[in-house]
Amino acid sequence: MELQDLNVVIIGAGVGGLAAGALLARKGAMVTVLEAQDYPGGCAATFAREGYRFDAGATIGCGFHEGGPMNMLGKELGIVWPVLPEPVAWQYRHNSIHLDLPSQRLGILERFPRSAPFWKEQKGLAKLLWHLAEGGLSWPAKGVRDLGRLARKGIAGLPESAHLLKFSTKTVREWLAFHGLDSDPDFVRFIDAQLLVSVQTTSNYANAVNAAIALDLPLSGSYRVKGGIGTVAELLAGAIEEKGGAVLYDKNVIRIDSVRRQVFGLETSDGSAIAADFVLANITPESLAMLTGEENKPDAVMSDSPHWSAFVLYLGMDPDLFTALPTHHIQIIGASGELAEGNSIFVSFSHGDDPSRAPEGLCAVTISTHTLPGQWFEAKEKSRSAYMELKSAYIERLLDVFSEQFPKARRSVRSITAATPVTWERYTGRLQGLVGGYPQTSLFKVRGPATSFDNLFLVGDSIFPGQSLPGVVTGARRAVELLLQRNDKTT
Ligand SMILES: Cc1cc2nc3c(=O)[nH]c(=O)nc-3n(C[C@H](O)[C@H](O)[C@H](O)COP(=O)(O)OP(=O)(O)OC[C@H]3O[C@@H](n4cnc5c(N)ncnc54)[C@H](O)[C@@H]3O)c2cc1C
Repeated sequence: MELQDLNVVIIGAGVGGLAAGALLARKGAMVTVLEAQDYPGGCAATFAREGYRFDAGATIGCGFHEGGPMNMLGKELGIVWPVLPEPVAWQYRHNSIHLDLPSQRLGILERFPRSAPFWKEQKGLAKLLWHLAEGGLSWPAKGVRDLGRLARKGIAGLPESAHLLKFSTKTVREWLAFHGLDSDPDFVRFIDAQLLVSVQTTSNYANAVNAAIALDLPLSGSYRVKGGIGTVAELLAGAIEEKGGAVLYDKNVIRIDSVRRQVFGLETSDGSAIAADFVLANITPESLAMLTGEENKPDAVMSDSPHWSAFVLYLGMDPDLFTALPTHHIQIIGASGELAEGNSIFVSFSHGDDPSRAPEGLCAVTISTHTLPGQWFEAKEKSRSAYMELKSAYIERLLDVFSEQFPKARRSVRSITAATPVTWERYTGRLQGLVGGYPQTSLFKVRGPATSFDNLFLVGDSIFPGQSLPGVVTGARRAVELLLQRNDKTT
């Protein structure tokens, strides 16, 4: 079918769905995005509450560096991202260890001098991976054409390619052991803390190649998005509309209609029926199975590593607490040294020079921790009071860990709103509130965009390369590529 006759419907206005939609609209397709909420962005939205604009989940803009996935996307779509580089990506704190993560690793090398060879290898691998990701990654490979493209990008020629092959099946723990670093609990904890927020698992499970690029974030650069991270989704939605597409809000898709391996339309909770030549689902495979009525079979992507949801606090705060810091993001590991479940938190606060984010003299703060969803749904099932009790306990736990490093934290809080996995399920449509993407444990057991339907593709952080803005944009390019190939075949 000619592209201008192609009717593509996208379920969900997350960054993955919007990026795919904007790329397709630019190529001439007719794009309609159906979004259940009344604003775009999903996990990377910014929402208004009581005079504040809080980042819902994501707070750090990454991939905006020259040649990075967001930078390339902006150039292609004619979007000038309103971003400013942050000199320090974030500060890591555990007891008396305070480490800034700027674009050079000097402080880290000073604290962990034996880690220098590890970082050298990481840097080389990340360089190769950024190079391979330019213009999209043909992975998981669908055939000879994809493998040929990887080869053409120079995978065989670069010296780091040997490392790529060597580490492609290794865990980070094995990589650390190779450098004799696995016996240093402070270094392992520091690495685990970074991996948990970037590849959703720790060194025992995380794949070394995935980790190499995740650990590169402070070096490749972190960026502040003016108006909050949700501005990215708003601009992408604008790019779709500018090309004649539509982004429709309050449109909750409740059913996908199909005959054999072909999807022909969707139904929304307000009774609309929408026809489609192709559908892109910006949702998890579990949620997709609910819409198609298929049985959701656990597949090879599932790993032993837990699948996390998040507990998030949105605080209105007095910014005085943060004035001496070199960054707007702090990762705090509680005294026990445990990660997740409120013992490790990621704190982000809005910039004083962005008046759109908070009432005068105050700032909007997002604090998140990884949590397993089961306990939240069990408590909700039991009774409202059991659920509220658990929620209060988590609020206190997060504030306790925050106060370990900032003793005046509690006194600076002006308002509190909390989101549990139950909230995330309701808000993003992800079953069990499984936000953050899949744990990146293997390069070879990853999910691509294809589904069991010929004209239905997945997009978002459930597909390779997984979570983060640059991650879902890279995955969106792959979904668009496969959709266009499929269209070519059927034309
Ligand atoms: C706490 C937290 C912190 C994070 N921090 C960062 C960070 O600092 N930097 C970073 O780059 N990334 C971060 N991430 C990851 C990043 O936010 C996500 O990987 C990314 O935003 C996911 O985008 P997505 O396209 O997969 O979909 P989502 O964001 O999940 O969006 C999907 C959209 O689809 C809609 N939808 C779902 N079902 C339906 C339906 N049936 N009908 C209609 N609409 C539907 C939802 O309402 C939603 O808007 C963080 C994530 C979390 C949870």
